[in-house]
Amino acid sequence: MAAEMLSAAGANVHVYDAMPSAGRKFLLAGLGGLNLTHAEPFETFITRFGSRSSACASWLKDFDAAAIRAWVTGLGLDTFVGSSQRVFPTDMKAAPLLRAWLHRLRHPKHGQPVTFHMRHRWHGALQRDANTPHDAPTFTLQFDTPQGPQTVQADAVMLALGGGSWSKVGSDGAWQPWLRSLGLDVSPLRPSNCGFDVQGPHGANGAMGTTGWSSHLSSQFAGAPLKSVVLSFTDSLGHSFSRRGEFVVTSTGIEGSLVYAVSAWLREEIERHGRATLFLNLKPDFTPERVQAEVAHPRGARSLSSHLKSRLNLTPLHMALLHEVLSKEDLHDPFQLAVAIQHLPITLASPRPLDEAISSAGGVRLEDLNTDLMVKSLPGVFVAGEMLDWEAPTGGYLLSACLASGRLAGLGAARHLLGEAALGETVLGPL
Ligand SMILES: Cc1cc2nc3c(=O)[nH]c(=O)nc-3n(C[C@H](O)[C@H](O)[C@H](O)COP(=O)(O)OP(=O)(O)OC[C@H]3O[C@@H](n4cnc5c(N)ncnc54)[C@H](O)[C@@H]3O)c2cc1C
Repeated sequence: MAAEMLSAAGANVHVYDAMPSAGRKFLLAGLGGLNLTHAEPFETFITRFGSRSSACASWLKDFDAAAIRAWVTGLGLDTFVGSSQRVFPTDMKAAPLLRAWLHRLRHPKHGQPVTFHMRHRWHGALQRDANTPHDAPTFTLQFDTPQGPQTVQADAVMLALGGGSWSKVGSDGAWQPWLRSLGLDVSPLRPSNCGFDVQGPHGANGAMGTTGWSSHLSSQFAGAPLKSVVLSFTDSLGHSFSRRGEFVVTSTGIEGSLVYAVSAWLREEIERHGRATLFLNLKPDFTPERVQAEVAHPRGARSLSSHLKSRLNLTPLHMALLHEVLSKEDLHDPFQLAVAIQHLPITLASPRPLDEAISSAGGVRLEDLNTDLMVKSLPGVFVAGEMLDWEAPTGGYLLSACLASGRLAGLGAARHLLGEAALGETVLGPL
């Protein structure tokens, strides 16, 4: 998006990427339907960025959900708003959109074509020559390429290296120490929208602490979805989350949309206290009195699981979770059992590794950047996308903020290189 702004303004733009082709994580996002943005009102939309709401709002105010949809239309594709207000391309695929976008970048109707250099891995060297005459190159960068090291000179540099998840698609977060050595304040990358490992059955007793489910739950139910449950969590700072949805039980813990929605708070609670306990209501449509009555109903010769299956429609996965958490005595105490069905504590020990997460928290601190996302201490160097220090839940907010920050930084870089006049309506018309 930054390249698009710069090319439209008339700059000579070269994109260098370590991977063999462009937009691999964008394509990966397409496997889940490519949730581009969210159609809720802007005032609600920006609250999803938590403590970075006001900074992200300043990027998104000029490139909001409606603008993103118009941009997709400009590329010859359509979008639709799903039942949850999430916005997708009509075919829910990333490849056609990426193809059309790359084609337009390479062959723009206005402005300069963008040149792509794939398999060019920047390894952090960025020299700034402050003494060159005004029209001479200002920065020297080095890339590793299959043909050997390449040196490139540029008047401005846009860093959009992504976060640290799914490194196989290119974003490995290796830039963190490099940018620190250039004097930037980088908050360590951490998993966001991630799964968690649960505290093992004996973990609460300290010395015997393990992570992961019992071998029974893990071998029988890893990969099974838990649908229509309410997940509640209150952290030690008093923030409360409670939402109905679904997630998946993994071999060592939990992951999925409902978990991602509260993952930032869970991660931070674990950072503070070494663990975080959430509660599940497995029967949110039942009153506590009804659950008590059904559990206490005489069960005759039936096993506990067939009794709970017939009275409350509890599944084998529900039963396995109850077995995981309750002692034998509590399991056979109708009162304790009924309480647990609607308030089942699940203690989490750690987030899954960053590489498995949907996105990263942390990154280049916004305080080091001006309002155009230019590094204050390195005029001419801009930063955009997930490598900036913000985070948001899934729902289209990630791509929205990446696109909007890229657009803002691209316009800033164009202004830096070519002056305000280059940003006229005519030049940016096709966008
Ligand atoms: C499985 C999955 C599904 C997702 N689904 C969605 C979704 O539906 N909706 C949504 O909003 N978001 C989604 N996201 C998140 C979204 O894809 C990212 O937030 C977004 O792509 C980040 O864009 P970016 O341009 O900042 O970084 P990236 O897309 O990661 O691009 C960074 C680029 O920099 C290159 N690079 C990195 N280091 C170097 C180097 N040293 N030298 C040269 N090149 C380098 C990489 O090769 C890469 O091409 C998903 C993420 C994942 C993992």
